[in-house]
Amino acid sequence: MELAGTKALVTGGSRGIGRAVALELARRGADVAINYNSNSGAADEVVAEIVAMGRTAIAIQGNVADYASAGNLVTVAKEALGGLNCLVNNAGITRDRLLMAMKEEDWQAVIQTNLSGVYNVTQQAIRHLLRNRDTGARVVNITSVSGIVGVPGQANYSASKAGIIGFTKAVAKEVAKRQILINCVAPGFIATDMTAALNQTMMAEATKMIPCQRLGTSEEVAAAVAFLVGPGASYITGQVLVVDGGLTM
Ligand code: NAP
Repeated sequence: MELAGTKALVTGGSRGIGRAVALELARRGADVAINYNSNSGAADEVVAEIVAMGRTAIAIQGNVADYASAGNLVTVAKEALGGLNCLVNNAGITRDRLLMAMKEEDWQAVIQTNLSGVYNVTQQAIRHLLRNRDTGARVVNITSVSGIVGVPGQANYSASKAGIIGFTKAVAKEVAKRQILINCVAPGFIATDMTAALNQTMMAEATKMIPCQRLGTSEEVAAAVAFLVGPGASYITGQVLVVDGGLTM
């Protein structure tokens, strides 16, 4: 149980990658607060699976794009788990369209959820850690290969994910002396509801470009997150671990 004593908040932990992360952290011994925005049923299922493993789990509704709601997430998670020493910023959305046709509301929604959401939750969680003089906490931010190479039709999404990488490096330097470590995981194409919504012809073309010739699974991303949360990553901070089947090498 390498993560015994870990008390984790996973944003967007009810479905897809976040769900797999919540389950993997619990499997390794962590207690987990699962945030969702709209789908309480999916979050309750993850909680039930974690409780069946003998761990503590709670579902918390909250919109990471809203600063007060994000603060409430941190407070409720901390109270329910008896502390908080791990944060996985996973909640994210897409509103894909070529720049020429991208509506301002689609730009704002993606930046506000994906990038400001990471600021909203991380700042309030780290304030809690610093106030308590806690050391050794871990933060993992889920970015994307779209934030590394840029993807046409995703100017808003690529900008938000590149922003997360810059945010991570700056904050890593601010908090390293307290042994608080903050890293990114950058998935490539992963089979979730998010990619199921994409044009399937385009997805078939994209798969041909992946050296491993297949989409990744949420569990493969979760394994990378669990590594960065675990004891084996105690001297790693400000890094981006790419999980993309070789797509961007
Ligand atoms: P998904 O299947 O669409 O799940 C998204 C999760 O985020 C859900 O739990 C959803 O909760 C939650 N969420 C959405 N907006 C939220 C908000 N404003 N506040 C709180 N929670 C919110 O997505 P996914 O494919 O697992 O992606 C997870 C993360 O990985 C995202 O950051 C995404 O950008 C990133 N990523 C995904 C891929 C991929 O290929 N799938 C690749 C690279 C990076 P509700 O259901 O309650 O709304």
